[in-house]
Amino acid sequence: MTHEPSPHAGALSPDTLVVAAGRPARVHDAPVNPPIVLSSTYVGTGTVVDGDRAYGRYSNPTWDPLEETLAELEGATLPGLVFASGLAAVSAALSLIPAGGVLVMPRHTYQGALVMAQELAEKGLFTLRTVDVADTDEVIAALTGAGERAASMLWLESPTNPMLEVADLRVLCRSAQAVGAVVVTDNTFSTPLVQQPLELGSDVVLHSVTKYLAGHSDVVLGAIVTSDPDLRGRLHHHRSIHGAIAGPFEAWLALRGLRTLALRVERSQQTALALALRLEAHDGVDRVRFPGLESDPGHARARAQMNGFGSILCIEVAGGAAAAEGVVAALRLWTPATSLGGVESLIERRRRHANEPDSVPENLLRLSVGIENAEDLWADLAQALDSVVSR
Ligand SMILES: *Cc1c(COP(=O)(O)O)cnc(C)c1O
Repeated sequence: MTHEPSPHAGALSPDTLVVAAGRPARVHDAPVNPPIVLSSTYVGTGTVVDGDRAYGRYSNPTWDPLEETLAELEGATLPGLVFASGLAAVSAALSLIPAGGVLVMPRHTYQGALVMAQELAEKGLFTLRTVDVADTDEVIAALTGAGERAASMLWLESPTNPMLEVADLRVLCRSAQAVGAVVVTDNTFSTPLVQQPLELGSDVVLHSVTKYLAGHSDVVLGAIVTSDPDLRGRLHHHRSIHGAIAGPFEAWLALRGLRTLALRVERSQQTALALALRLEAHDGVDRVRFPGLESDPGHARARAQMNGFGSILCIEVAGGAAAAEGVVAALRLWTPATSLGGVESLIERRRRHANEPDSVPENLLRLSVGIENAEDLWADLAQALDSVVSR
């Protein structure tokens, strides 16, 4: 089965691309959807050359349409690379740092990525400089090194998890380039529909496909997209040799989920903004963190570089950690669970995780807004907050 070689790029809107990209060639009686291919090896004749499938750890035809679709959505000129999980993609990306190099990373990066970087730095593989990514001057100082070695890699996440700080992506990408650092942007929270890091100057875009892209909380999967042939070659080699490959079924499920991404993102973003406005006015809430609110410190930057504001928001519940736990316990529709980006609305107090940084408030709840009816979601939140406030 051959796939249409990206006939769409540049011509179609992203909300069409999520439906139209990565389809089998249009020939009589061909299936409309790509099939799941279950094979650990491929028939080989003569010498193995670059581009041969050869073996199941190097390639699988089920990955191809997903990798093509992700590349088209992120505006890349080369196919993406899918990995066994978002963190497997993080591991591959961190392998691009040369021995003895310097990694600059936001203090509130996704917890798993931060722990991985800290552990690798403790082993002496590279130096880690953590920064407040919203403070552009602080990031630039860490990049240049102020007399110490300049950065080899800048890791970006914006808005950050879970504090929702917004980085000035254009300026930071330019500053990283000026010192020769590779820029990797974790675009999981925004999806390519809301933010396009390659266009903003990032070299590499990374996703936990587990979240919005697959979208149904039934798959763990990761992906990397880049237009740089050298970087892609090194990342592909890392995946082949370290072996964190995607299962064919997971790759197929992710592409199936991706078909509705535009509808899901549009709906959940709308609901998130409506909920943020109401939460801001509620007595039981000390603070709402959401870049879509005009009162949010990241609002202007988010407006300048995002197509919307995403659908993750955080609230700090009046009355501390116990009150926050009380709200979670009183909810009936929202599911208390970690993770995000699925059709169902999830909520959790982030500090329940032992290795969440101390700088994250004890009373902070992270809300992943799903696609349920907005009034139902609000009614549930309001009754839970009211039950704690009036206690
Ligand atoms: C979940 C997540 C990851 C890790 O992805 P997994 O698929 O869970 O391995 C990385 N970055 C962000 C922003 C995430 O939300």
